[in-house]
Amino acid sequence: MNRVYNFNPGPATLPFDVLREAQAEFLDFAGTGMSITEISHRSMPYEKVHNQAKADILSLMGLGDDYEVLFIQGGASLQFSMIPMNFATKEKHGAYVLSGTFSSNAYKEAKNLGVGDIAASTKDENFRRVPKNEEIKLNPNAAYLHLCYNNTIYGTEFHYIPETGDVPLFADMSSDMLSRPVDFKRFSFIYAGVQKNLGPAGVVVVVARKSLIEKSLETLPTMLRYDTFYKKNSLYNTPPSFSIYIVGKVVAWIKNNGGLEEMERRNKIKAKMLYDAIDASDGFYRGHAEKDSRSFMNVTFRLPNEDLEKKFVDEALKHNISGVKGHRSVGGMRASIYNAMPIEGAQTLAEFMDKFRKENA
Ligand SMILES: *Cc1c(COP(=O)(O)O)cnc(C)c1O
Repeated sequence: MNRVYNFNPGPATLPFDVLREAQAEFLDFAGTGMSITEISHRSMPYEKVHNQAKADILSLMGLGDDYEVLFIQGGASLQFSMIPMNFATKEKHGAYVLSGTFSSNAYKEAKNLGVGDIAASTKDENFRRVPKNEEIKLNPNAAYLHLCYNNTIYGTEFHYIPETGDVPLFADMSSDMLSRPVDFKRFSFIYAGVQKNLGPAGVVVVVARKSLIEKSLETLPTMLRYDTFYKKNSLYNTPPSFSIYIVGKVVAWIKNNGGLEEMERRNKIKAKMLYDAIDASDGFYRGHAEKDSRSFMNVTFRLPNEDLEKKFVDEALKHNISGVKGHRSVGGMRASIYNAMPIEGAQTLAEFMDKFRKENA
């Protein structure tokens, strides 16, 4: 077996211990004589997994029982539609910060429904940074302010929480949820497609104030109403039980490895290694993000030309470094260094970057 260092943006690397554990109990889960993928979602062993995952997520986030955890399918992309359908109206629009591809996609869904406004955008600067607080023009009558906390494709991240007054703050944290301590109480609604930092594809974790989700518009389809998931403990229909089971193992792994403080410590070390390699390269590597918006999760950079970029990807693979090709809209490289990427992985990439530069500059 040869496991590579997997820098893919999502689906992405998972903690090795989690994969091992899942493998060990795959054929006989908790003495049932069945796989977790074969047991009923109404059975006690499954419900225990489901409820423990929810409890661990809230406790890691430091949130109390005024918040609820929901498990919803359809990816983060379906949340782009469900949010305006559930919370915005023609009179009270949703306000959007545009800081990259996914936040723009979220805005597009609200706009199509005629209920979305732009509060700030850095599109003119090719999304090299997130807007500053004072650049966000928020209508105090907005239904919510929506932003994407970490921009997976451009490699930028919010390092502050915008002030929104009485307007509830909503965040897509698909690619940085549980990567560091955040004052989560300042957010009313947080969601994440788990395939970046929290598990395998197939489920979105929503963490929201109960007061927001306990009652939805009667006219919405059952499966697009948050109150359906809230009232039925996300078990109205068959949930993606295997994905939730792995998410449960990942959050337990975070708890057992020192919680969000320790994740942040490790993530900052990894990010520093890669940004140092960029900054010390005399312009050979050019980071896409402006320094004060740099992401701790996705490090994006270009090389002097596309031939060298292709060569970089090919040679990296020979050093066990996989998944560093960037998104087509930015070009170049992107190294995703989520919680599960070991420090040695980032170190291996940083050393390869130095070696490659010396050989090719
Ligand atoms: C990947 C990603 C999405 C899209 O997620 P899907 O689950 O594929 O719909 C949305 N937002 C962010 C920040 C992402 O990284």
